[in-house]
Amino acid sequence: MQDSDVIVIGSGIGGLTAAALLARYGKRVIVCESHTIPGGAAHTFRRRGFEFDSGPSFYCGLTSTGSLNPVKQVLDVLGESLESVPYDPLGLYHFPEASLPVYSNADLTREEIAKITPQGAKELKRFEERLLPLYDAMKGIPTLALRADWQVIPILIGRYLPSLLKMVPHLPLVQASVGSVMDATVQDPWIRRLIDLECFLLSGLKAHGTIAPEVAFVLGERSRAGVEYPVGGSAAIVKALVRGLERWGSQLLLGHHVEQILVENRKVLGVQLTKGEILKAPIVISNASIWDTYTKLLRPEDLPSSFSKAALNTPPVDSFMHLHLGIRADGLENLTGHHVVVHDSDKDITVPGNTCMISIPSVWDATLAPEGHHVVHAYTLEPYAGWERNDEYEHKKQQKAQTLYRALEQIIPDIRERVVLELIGTPLTHAYYLRRYQGTYGPAIQAGQGMFPGSHTPIQGLYRVGDSTTPGIGVPAVAASGILCANMLVK
Ligand SMILES: Cc1cc2nc3c(=O)[nH]c(=O)nc-3n(C[C@H](O)[C@H](O)[C@H](O)COP(=O)(O)OP(=O)(O)OC[C@H]3O[C@@H](n4cnc5c(N)ncnc54)[C@H](O)[C@@H]3O)c2cc1C
Repeated sequence: MQDSDVIVIGSGIGGLTAAALLARYGKRVIVCESHTIPGGAAHTFRRRGFEFDSGPSFYCGLTSTGSLNPVKQVLDVLGESLESVPYDPLGLYHFPEASLPVYSNADLTREEIAKITPQGAKELKRFEERLLPLYDAMKGIPTLALRADWQVIPILIGRYLPSLLKMVPHLPLVQASVGSVMDATVQDPWIRRLIDLECFLLSGLKAHGTIAPEVAFVLGERSRAGVEYPVGGSAAIVKALVRGLERWGSQLLLGHHVEQILVENRKVLGVQLTKGEILKAPIVISNASIWDTYTKLLRPEDLPSSFSKAALNTPPVDSFMHLHLGIRADGLENLTGHHVVVHDSDKDITVPGNTCMISIPSVWDATLAPEGHHVVHAYTLEPYAGWERNDEYEHKKQQKAQTLYRALEQIIPDIRERVVLELIGTPLTHAYYLRRYQGTYGPAIQAGQGMFPGSHTPIQGLYRVGDSTTPGIGVPAVAASGILCANMLVK
């Protein structure tokens, strides 16, 4: 007696993508989500009329036809679409010595860079020219055609041979680090820090730790498909995937925390929910992180011990301090929506609190804040270790948020007087609401020093999707992981 064909644990973008596609392929799918709001790291929450993105706000190619974004490919086959607002410049990077507007059009950005370092601008062009052909080669093979097992080989050869051949000269780049491309093309220290910063924003690691295809994808998408913000915030993407899931006959159960994955003789049977209810299915897909899946959701005896050990040995990127603000918007016309502030050039950009990301999405979508107001999200990396809900907690929280306020003051000098709603999130908040091990951003797997683990597990019928599986962290990457897994489960 099965309750469904497939159970998906978690409604992050990876889980929802896999679930909705499998529903589209005719499977009966149940998604169990612990939280009362779907979307995981990409969920949007509402307080006193303000709609806050909990995480992502930077998107490329969500709606344009030429885009490589897997989210767009999945929404197309589900019969769903998004409304979005294109914008440019995509952001301002503020260093102590200069602020740099970054445009979708790389020529415009390089013109701005030439005002700071003319030689650096030329070197950056060489760097981009090395990476962009990889993006062009990727274009011929849609993610939607791929799967996470050997059966991808006949598909690639049978349907995509010309594109595959185009890819061959770029194969060495596929596993290369961005750092190796940078070493071969860029000497200028200012540009090297800029490249490190862009890699850090994407992967949580600097250039030598980040794989080249990740940056090639973003450079290509932002210059060729354009930067855009979904109307309604990240929730718009989540809602479109949920609509797709339901339209194709499957269901999402919110507030349904999975306590355990049920396994017998190394074969999955289903899941047990917190209240003891059991749901049975021959296939279970976990969208929980690698650490949570292998150490919390499975019993030690269900796994070869080498597996749980390897899972715990995967290094995590730090967690975050978040500052979510509702502010008065009077006099703030022509505000740019994205900013990155590096406080101190003598400190490494990865030092917690030194690099702060700011997003003000009501600049693009006024419905996210009450009239006359803006919604602000500022965040920076913060280690999980040392955080406890003790007597010190409130004080420490206020103190750690100051780096975010100082970053915001560079954009809106009187920000503190404008605040009508303040929410400060710590690594504990992040871990709690996102149900993520130590509130991590994702695995810190350095390029060249290991691969992201794939969807397979040693348990028959149990698979994994999300940012701790290939192809990695970020909304397009986790959507791709959902596609690879779903495709592998059908003929
Ligand atoms: C601050 C921040 C900013 C970011 N900015 C960007 C950006 O601008 N652009 C971009 O592309 N990416 C960005 N990212 C990265 C991106 O948001 C994530 O990589 C992606 O959303 C992760 O998706 P996922 O599928 O791995 O699952 P997650 O988002 O981790 O979702 C997993 C889901 O599983 C649920 N779950 C876990 N355990 C259980 C259980 N036992 N039972 C039931 N449910 C469970 C959780 O509640 C959660 O909903 C950002 C991330 C953060 C944190």
